[in-house]
Amino acid sequence: MGEVVQRTDFQITLRHHGEARRVHVTIYDDLDQLREHAATEAQGDGQDYNNALAVTSRWSRYRFTDSSSAGVLHPLCARIRLTRNHLTMAIITHEVGHAALHIWQLGNEDHALSTDDIDGEEEFCYLLGELAARLVRRLHHYGFYDS
Ligand SMILES: [Zn+2]
Repeated sequence: MGEVVQRTDFQITLRHHGEARRVHVTIYDDLDQLREHAATEAQGDGQDYNNALAVTSRWSRYRFTDSSSAGVLHPLCARIRLTRNHLTMAIITHEVGHAALHIWQLGNEDHALSTDDIDGEEEFCYLLGELAARLVRRLHHYGFYDS
């Protein structure tokens, strides 16, 4: 009797402007569980996760090496939640867009978190996801992914 796998977790780490940035990825078997976890984490942010197929949250966590230090930003800076049955190029690229924007803002003072525009960010990420999905569809059409 194999244990039923409920989710798969892994992390992606890369460097941006010399700083390590890490993204935690969770692939859920169950979409309801994703929505429940996203809503719990977001506690009262006013967003409705009942129709979400995937959710990315930004994190700015600090770790303190001693009591007098101001703290340094922890590399772990975003969480991408995806569902097994919704791993399309459009969705993956859309969510990665959110995480990439956050990483980019962390590394660019001129585009700090205070300049975040959530509506504009959504619009941009949908555009990004749609373009990537259409491009990959064409690559399949032309046989670039055929073995
Ligand atoms: Zn989005």
